[in-house]
Amino acid sequence: MTSARPDLLGLSLADLAATLDAIGVGATHAGRVFGGLHRRLLPLDAIEGLGPRHAARIADATFAAEATVEATHPSDDGTEKLVFRLGDGARVEGVLIPMRGDRLALCVSSQVGCAMACAFCATGTLGLTRGLRAGEIVAQVHAARRRVEPAGRRVSHVVFMGMGEPLHHYAATRDAVRVLREPRGVCIAAQRITVSTVGVVPKMRAFAADFGGRVQLALSLHAGTDATRRRIVPLAATHDLAALKAALLDHPLPGRRALMLEYVVLPGVNDDAAELEALAAWTRGLRCLVNLIPFNPFPGAPFRAPDDATVRRVGASLEALGVPHSIRWPRGRRVAGACGQLALVTP
Ligand code: SF4
Repeated sequence: MTSARPDLLGLSLADLAATLDAIGVGATHAGRVFGGLHRRLLPLDAIEGLGPRHAARIADATFAAEATVEATHPSDDGTEKLVFRLGDGARVEGVLIPMRGDRLALCVSSQVGCAMACAFCATGTLGLTRGLRAGEIVAQVHAARRRVEPAGRRVSHVVFMGMGEPLHHYAATRDAVRVLREPRGVCIAAQRITVSTVGVVPKMRAFAADFGGRVQLALSLHAGTDATRRRIVPLAATHDLAALKAALLDHPLPGRRALMLEYVVLPGVNDDAAELEALAAWTRGLRCLVNLIPFNPFPGAPFRAPDDATVRRVGASLEALGVPHSIRWPRGRRVAGACGQLALVTP
């Protein structure tokens, strides 16, 4: 699968110009090629003004990422799980989540499987096969657009919360975000892109440096103490809560931005008063919003799903402790498309 050729859909406009220059097509074609590929979703040979010789030369010199929709699984709550087939036959999953009006958020995958093995996540049971190229992440957005735009809907938000840890193969995530933001292409505003991490501290710092806090960061926190976090997030043994907090305190937050902290509610594990008090103490000094996510079960999971009353009780406790929070009620659970359920199995 690996190829030393430049990843055409993962190239920024500037890198595309340099590539076209290097292969003799000429940098002057970069804008038309970028717009054709990313805005109009055209194949190279259909881009006006490029010509068949240049199109063939670009195709020969670059790697063409593929992500085609192999299967779709609509849920009764309006979400739709998409199974993407990549060029080498590997599969990853994404989820289209309806928002207001004609808008949709697309949850994309960054890896085939995941190495992080979080205990509450079905993807973590798969292990890691490989990281995606930037172009394969972008191609998921293109495939979703091809699916929804003919019906007058649009992908307005992209969240990196599908299969994989986006900061584990950071360069691909960074490059994909750059391409998706580019005004000549898909042009998704920085504040409408969210990158989630389970806490890869050095890459959180790189992400902050590369995007200046404009692209939303979501930290999968899930505990208020290191002891509990280590039980459910193996990476916590490498990056503890003190290191995470130090990175977040350094994370720039332009305007009224706030950090998103994800907290999967696991009854009997992280929902007692002492854990929530520790969480409240840890968040002090951070401009943040805690998203409570009721655990979404999967076959063989070592936890049970909380009932709604438990989730509301956790929310009320955070309220009393002065921690800004919201509850993310599950969507797509029926088709195993909710948070933590993506494992290429659909009931
Ligand atoms: S929660 Fe994220 S980082 Fe953890 S195993 Fe699942 S996909 Fe990987």
